[in-house]
Amino acid sequence: MRLLVDLPAGLDYNEWLASHTMALFDHVNLVYGTVSEFCTPSGCPDMTGPGQKIYLWFDEKGKKTKVAAPQYIDYVMTFIQKTISDETIFPTKYANEFPSSFESIVRKIVRLLFHVVAHLYAAHFKEVALLGLHTHLNLTFAHLTALHHRFALIDAKETEVLQDLEVALRLTEDPTAEASSEDACDAASEATETDSRTHLQDEASSDNKS
Ligand SMILES: [Zn+2]
Repeated sequence: MRLLVDLPAGLDYNEWLASHTMALFDHVNLVYGTVSEFCTPSGCPDMTGPGQKIYLWFDEKGKKTKVAAPQYIDYVMTFIQKTISDETIFPTKYANEFPSSFESIVRKIVRLLFHVVAHLYAAHFKEVALLGLHTHLNLTFAHLTALHHRFALIDAKETEVLQDLEVALRLTEDPTAEASSEDACDAASEATETDSRTHLQDEASSDNKS
């Protein structure tokens, strides 16, 4: 998986990000599509992730709003579909160039896709497994994680809800495995600091989250 996302020599970084982003979108869309009939406003009144996590949608004014999971995911998929079909953002013609904001747009897409994956694990894993698609979901998560690890696309604060799964699927080293208790303590306080910082950044950049 790690080799899969390494940028091949001579290939443009944006080009590479674009192809992985589009592939991830297709895979997440496919898995969610198979269980979407179980994701209803009454069954999933909140956009949940593992461990009581609830994702709030940022409306056009950058205001956080609580929406049901199917609504949230519809917003996500519509936004991504619109964005990757936009020739000025995801150029397909040779002469067209990527905008300077391309990487930040990709970061946003990958973060939103992560939310959908998190919801699938938290609320619909049973249905996914019954349909025999859990391997596909795990692979999609592995792909997303590998891409994120390679290019640092998502805040650690976001990915920690699926940290245990990363370890279980051996996508990452168990951070607690070899650290002494003192080291672990340091790491924990460091993580808390980083958390509050990224949180502030998140708040500050909420305006452009339309
Ligand atoms: Zn749901």
